[in-house]
Amino acid sequence: MTDEKTRKNLLSSLPKVDQVLAHPEIQAHSGTVAVMIVKAAVRAEIDLARKRVLSGEITARDDLALDQVASRAAARAIDMNKPRLRKVINATGVVLHTNLGRSPLPEEAIRQITLVASGYSNLEYDINSGKRGSRDDLIEKIICDLTGTESATVVNNNAAAVLLALNTMAKGAGVVVSRGELVEIGGAFRIPDVMAASGGRLVEVGTTNRTRIGDYEKAVDDDTALLMKVHTSNYQIVGFSEEASIEELVGLGKKKKLPVLVDLGSGSLMDLTRLGLTEHEPTAAEVVKSGADVVTFSGDKLLGGPQAGIIIGKSKFIEPIRKNPMKRALRVGKLTLAALETVLKIYMEPGLAAQNLPALKMISADKRSIAARARRFARTLDELPLEISFVSAISKVGGGALPLEDMPTTLMALEAEGLSAHDLEEQLRAQDPPVVGRIVDKKFCLDFRTVSTSELSALRSSIKAALQ
Ligand SMILES: *Cc1c(COP(=O)(O)O)cnc(C)c1O
Repeated sequence: MTDEKTRKNLLSSLPKVDQVLAHPEIQAHSGTVAVMIVKAAVRAEIDLARKRVLSGEITARDDLALDQVASRAAARAIDMNKPRLRKVINATGVVLHTNLGRSPLPEEAIRQITLVASGYSNLEYDINSGKRGSRDDLIEKIICDLTGTESATVVNNNAAAVLLALNTMAKGAGVVVSRGELVEIGGAFRIPDVMAASGGRLVEVGTTNRTRIGDYEKAVDDDTALLMKVHTSNYQIVGFSEEASIEELVGLGKKKKLPVLVDLGSGSLMDLTRLGLTEHEPTAAEVVKSGADVVTFSGDKLLGGPQAGIIIGKSKFIEPIRKNPMKRALRVGKLTLAALETVLKIYMEPGLAAQNLPALKMISADKRSIAARARRFARTLDELPLEISFVSAISKVGGGALPLEDMPTTLMALEAEGLSAHDLEEQLRAQDPPVVGRIVDKKFCLDFRTVSTSELSALRSSIKAALQ
């Protein structure tokens, strides 16, 4: 432990901000790193040095030398200058990983985003008439064509879509929902909470595992405005269970003159069993066909597009939704529209969607092709001090979609002398780009289902750096 006097001496030899700023190593970054970032980095390094003197961690003047502090401040400035929202390599095998940004976008969508972002666009301008247009007009037709609905509008995400639909259709009135469908999707999205925020009044019917159409009918009174069905995306009730079908709800709605709202959650635009999945996820078109008045779903779950909430249905319900002032607050920007339009257009040729949409391509990849890619990649790691093996496992769709669907995969397990699975996991996460994998049977594993070919060389560099 340093005594009071030594500490005082050390503190007085701390370099001053201006001295560090004038140091050549800091000056070398003046063109590439903003001055505010450089100053903040220098101050942070000096503060840190002061704290370390006070805690007794620094006891020698050498550690406070101007060269040393400048060099640490320069490294800190470079680090602070990196974007906080960064590219990550998802080797978890979870395709729609919500924490890792859900669906990757196809090249064409990225090109269209770039084009629209780099200049002006006809976002709200009708090129034919030279008058004001509506951003919904740009994609309404294609959504209608793909889902067989009358009208469509788009908001920031499906949570916003549900909030807006409820606020428009049932503010201050009763909404009948089955107890088995009062789901939490993750984060703050819980049906009862969204209902409360929308101004609708939740009328729960049935039980957790069984709800019949009669339960809805008994709950309807003069104050009821809406019948609602929520797709229990991320969990399933199995065993002794029963639910009312959309058709039954639509029948009841006709009898009682009440509209039916369906929160479809993921909302696929094609039959995913065509991609080899065993579970059938209802498509938006099927739900429209079954007579639902309004249907909401996400843009970045099984649809494989940008974050968005799509609201489709009968014009008489969509029009008021569009006019709700809340719509203005929840609407999407031009970059989202650019990507969404491109992705939707890919679905116009359903046979190609699985090839051209990264998320669908990853979902449809079979175990053999994943194993082959993993083995090919393993050969590029030959010279690294690694023990590589291959393990059969399952990958998941993620994003709260198809929780019971197990997609067979082959994992590449990495072991390195002197490093535990947790060490490896931590090291790979610390690289640029960070690599996120998973630990299975005490081994750190990569699932190539979610790693694209264009990421392989970056993955290799990150693995190499992690071992140093
Ligand atoms: C995912 C989901 C939501 C929320 O959708 P976001 O696009 O993430 O806002 C709402 N309802 C259901 C049933 C869902 O599965």
